[in-house]
Amino acid sequence: MEQMRRMNAAHRIVVKVGTTTIVHPETGKTDFAKMEKLARDLSDLANQGRDVIIVSSGAIGIGRDILHIDRDARDNTTRQACSAVGQGRMIMTYEKVFAEYGRVVAQVLLTKESIASKLPRENAERTFEALLSHGVIPIVNENDSISTDELEYGNFGDNDTLSAYVAKLVHADLLIILSDIDGLYTDDPRKNKKAFFIDEVTKIDDELLKMGKESSTSLGTGGMTTKLAAAQIATRSGADMIIVNGKDIHNIMKAVSGENIGTIFRSRAASPKGSPAKAKKAVAERGSL
Ligand code: GLU
Repeated sequence: MEQMRRMNAAHRIVVKVGTTTIVHPETGKTDFAKMEKLARDLSDLANQGRDVIIVSSGAIGIGRDILHIDRDARDNTTRQACSAVGQGRMIMTYEKVFAEYGRVVAQVLLTKESIASKLPRENAERTFEALLSHGVIPIVNENDSISTDELEYGNFGDNDTLSAYVAKLVHADLLIILSDIDGLYTDDPRKNKKAFFIDEVTKIDDELLKMGKESSTSLGTGGMTTKLAAAQIATRSGADMIIVNGKDIHNIMKAVSGENIGTIFRSRAASPKGSPAKAKKAVAERGSL
């Protein structure tokens, strides 16, 4: 009940879309059906009066396909060139599918420096506010074609972390991560039959971080470890975070309407203050941390 109330009340929502969600894994080509469903559901959330921000991967994958570059070519320069080509195509496709539902989108490319330094961070914050006030859906990605050059700051490396920083930057209530698995397991469920699903996390401690390492499937750039790091950033900033399977785009709507789906990480503001011992007792009682 409480979950339903909190999700329904989420006004500002960041949705992280992985490459595996918008690209057919077998061929590396764009999955138009999924992008259309995404545009429809997110436009609907915006029509309900919510602010929607997308963090989308896919630039490198789509660029590889356009340039016929083998998936094994992983050197930085090739990836950066692919991202420069693929980013344009990806935004063009988003523009087209969102236009079907009367929504305007905007491209926002960020680097780690733009979040770490005060002036660009404040500029980015103002830009997001202005876009949202016009009903525009910002689509964020890392500025891959230059970001690995930032020796001083490093790059985000994966869009799970980027999406958490974006959630913090825009003061989001909810971050939804579309993943290639259903959520967090205590261990890799394909290898350990005793692994069980964790549907709720109220505290991210060392034990949980260890589980994340063991349960990582690492199909995308970010495995469960990067998702837990993202959860730490998002929940500390006051946002709830949910990991759901991106195989079914309607999982976004299900999550927002408070259905018990995926793994929810409660924001620090919402979590009952508790000791690790209490958290463990909760696991025993309800199968959640
Ligand atoms: N920014 C990369 C891209 O657009 C993806 C990084 C990630 O998937 O985490 O291809």
